[in-house]
Amino acid sequence: MKYSTLYIILFLSALIGCAEDNAPTVNPELASYFSLFEEEARTRGVEIDLTSQNISATFSDIESEHTQGVCNHYSDGSKQILIDITYWNNLRDIQKEFLVFHELGHCYLGRSHDNTRSASGDCNSIMHSGEGFCRDNYNPRTRDAYLDELFD
Ligand SMILES: [Zn+2]
Repeated sequence: MKYSTLYIILFLSALIGCAEDNAPTVNPELASYFSLFEEEARTRGVEIDLTSQNISATFSDIESEHTQGVCNHYSDGSKQILIDITYWNNLRDIQKEFLVFHELGHCYLGRSHDNTRSASGDCNSIMHSGEGFCRDNYNPRTRDAYLDELFD
């Protein structure tokens, strides 16, 4: 009786150990935007499986006032997206999507900032730095064109 309990505990901890090694932790609320990112890529003919990419994502209290999200790169090749929780809680859905997609643009697509703008001053890409070089215009009407640009 005692031994079988011990084996079960050992077996379970081995399982948990495996899960930690293989799957990066993505906060469930952010995970839904990860899925949406994969889906939008797929409709554009780009196959993405983020679960195999060693990108974790979580909420944090980011000190810098001007940083709402960040993609950290680590020496072991893993990456981590941090989203400022206070900022997040005040966003509408489409703005949340924008923020997670922007960070995945850094973390997964390897894109850097693009502050180019159209003749009317709108940002050409959701990869703009948010420092006012162009006007953010991501909304339900422009979303498709921005996502075309992102995955192109
Ligand atoms: Zn950025």
